[in-house]
Amino acid sequence: MLDLSTLNPPQREAVDCTEGPLLVLAGAGSGKTRVITCRIGHLVLHRKVAPESILAVTFTNKAAGEMKERVRELVGRGRTKGMIVSTFHSLGVRILRRDIERLGYKRNFGIYTTSDQLGLVRQALREVSDDGRKVDTEGILWRISGWKNRLIPPDRVQPRLNDPDELLAATIYPRYQRLLMACNAIDFDDIIMLTVRLLQEQPEVLDHWQERFRYIMVDEYQDTNASQYLFVSLLAKKYRNLCVVGDDDQSIYGWRGADVGNILAFEKDYPGCRVVKLEQNYRSTGTILEAANHVIRNNSVRTEKRLWTDAGEGRPIDLVIAQDDEEEASQVVERLQMERYRHNLSFGDFAILYRTNSQSRAFEEQLRFEDIPYVLVGGMQFYERKEVKDALSYLKVIDNPRDEQSLLRIVNFPRRGIGDGTVLKINQWSLEHDCPLLEAFGRVEEIEGVTGAVREKVLAFHRLVEESVRDFRHAGNLAARVKGLFDRLGLEEELYRTIEDPATARRKVENVAEVINSLAAFEERIPGATLSGFLEKVSLMDEDRFAGKDKKEHGKDAVTLMSLHSSKGLEFPFVFLVGFEEEILPHKRTVEEGMPIDEERRLCYVGITRARRHLTITRCLNRKKYGKLQERQPSRFLEEIPGRLLQVHEGSVKKASTEEEAEALAQDFFARMRSMLQQE
Ligand code: ATP
Ligand code: MG
Repeated sequence: MLDLSTLNPPQREAVDCTEGPLLVLAGAGSGKTRVITCRIGHLVLHRKVAPESILAVTFTNKAAGEMKERVRELVGRGRTKGMIVSTFHSLGVRILRRDIERLGYKRNFGIYTTSDQLGLVRQALREVSDDGRKVDTEGILWRISGWKNRLIPPDRVQPRLNDPDELLAATIYPRYQRLLMACNAIDFDDIIMLTVRLLQEQPEVLDHWQERFRYIMVDEYQDTNASQYLFVSLLAKKYRNLCVVGDDDQSIYGWRGADVGNILAFEKDYPGCRVVKLEQNYRSTGTILEAANHVIRNNSVRTEKRLWTDAGEGRPIDLVIAQDDEEEASQVVERLQMERYRHNLSFGDFAILYRTNSQSRAFEEQLRFEDIPYVLVGGMQFYERKEVKDALSYLKVIDNPRDEQSLLRIVNFPRRGIGDGTVLKINQWSLEHDCPLLEAFGRVEEIEGVTGAVREKVLAFHRLVEESVRDFRHAGNLAARVKGLFDRLGLEEELYRTIEDPATARRKVENVAEVINSLAAFEERIPGATLSGFLEKVSLMDEDRFAGKDKKEHGKDAVTLMSLHSSKGLEFPFVFLVGFEEEILPHKRTVEEGMPIDEERRLCYVGITRARRHLTITRCLNRKKYGKLQERQPSRFLEEIPGRLLQVHEGSVKKASTEEEAEALAQDFFARMRSMLQQE
């Protein structure tokens, strides 16, 4: 139920001010997101605004999911019909599906993820150079993405002439874009760029969505980039009922083109807008908040904010100094267990946060060793795994036969004797004859140099795809039909045959089965589900490097492992902030390239302010790199936290090599825990 009396006066003001532009610029944990959900509730329940007129945008699927859930609780399930609470990308796809044909694309476009994109870049490279020099394809993609985020189309790029990498990227960009279109596909940056173009160039489309979304709210506004900024401005232009909330101290996507200037310029963009400041933090203890405030105030450019809490001081922050990375992991897991028993908590109350995804491995191993359930957010996503991508490629080709990257993935998976040389010849022929790749497979007889048994194999493959496309033309029974297809292809046998380690093979087979399970779940949830709908959901999830699988989805109580970037907007009672060292936080690249470390400090601020009751910071004296121990320096941000807030724990954990030792260590563990309990 919605009870506005639980809000403090400025929060209530923000919720109540429903007409006209509104800016809420406030520190971490001050209830900005809560203002958005209550405002939606207020609009629907008290102002009788139709739910479909409401749009709320946030950055990650996870955040959008939580917001939706919260709103449902507030207004009741029946009253959210037609309301859109989503990420920028999901919203963009929705807009594009309706009208992308006006831009010359087909409505059933596919969405390419990083590995597909890299494939296209390599193909475009082959068109311009054959000198075989090692080219940084990711770097090219990075630059193209930068242009797209600034809405610069291929013909308007102005590369610096003295920068060869940039020049190369500028030559690849138009070719890459043409290849994408030939595959009837768009990439992630296109989703926003094309949506903006559609809204700019097609007045009826703009009008449709402006009329639809009379009330717009954007969370985490400090992390919008130029194209997202324009997207929001266009939608809100007519009715100007736009509420944005954010915190300049939490702007952490500058490296990806986000511009904190967007939130700082809001008052100028919307003259006469209402500005609300929130200063009470409801999330953390006094100690945690004080540490965060001390760190962030070392940044030079920021709007000054006061943030206070009446939650009481709470416990000091534990600073654990470990001998090396392995010990860091075992200390964290041991402490986690102790806290859990001591306070009777569930695993879901804990999060381990790190700067780079590769740090997760040691913690994962330790958690697995101790049989503690965990969810890994980000990192190698389920849908990025090779066997999963291969299996999905079949579905993608069936859904969009022009998806050539996927076609190339499956042409020899499972192995059917069509080698790289043959594929290259057919691909070359298809380019020369401007003929879609799939069609070229069917016309292999016209291609020189592909003969005999190989030709038959190519034709058989072509028939298989064509038949499958026909077979899937009508909706219904998708999971069962996909299962039938996979069985016929012998995917399972292929995995067992080609992967030596049976345990690894089994895991991969299970992953492929999981694809079918997730399709079945999708069909159950969505009446009239289509393959396109399923693939769209998958690609949007896949790119959501911040969110990944949700613990609720899995119905299990688990520790969360995620990067600092992913943790934005979330909160956990107990947080472990690990690897608090120079060259990790701040990141090595930032230090080496002499870039301002302000963004790293903001990341640190985000991390600290995720904790509600207790924060543990860990660092190592040494870390293994390529098998050698390297000495480590504490993070400079550690010095910025007043020593009186910290309780330092040094000294190593012993490892047992015999059973007696293990027994003694266990006894010791319980003795320490008993003494902790007595201290309480
Ligand atoms: P972040 O900057 O990290 O995104 P935020 O400003 O969005 O934080 P919220 O997540 O909305 O903050 O709120 C932080 C916590 O404080 C939540 O648990 C929320 O339920 C609680 N909270 C917010 N306002 C109040 C209030 N008036 N009374 C009690 N609890 C509140
Ligand atoms: Mg928030």
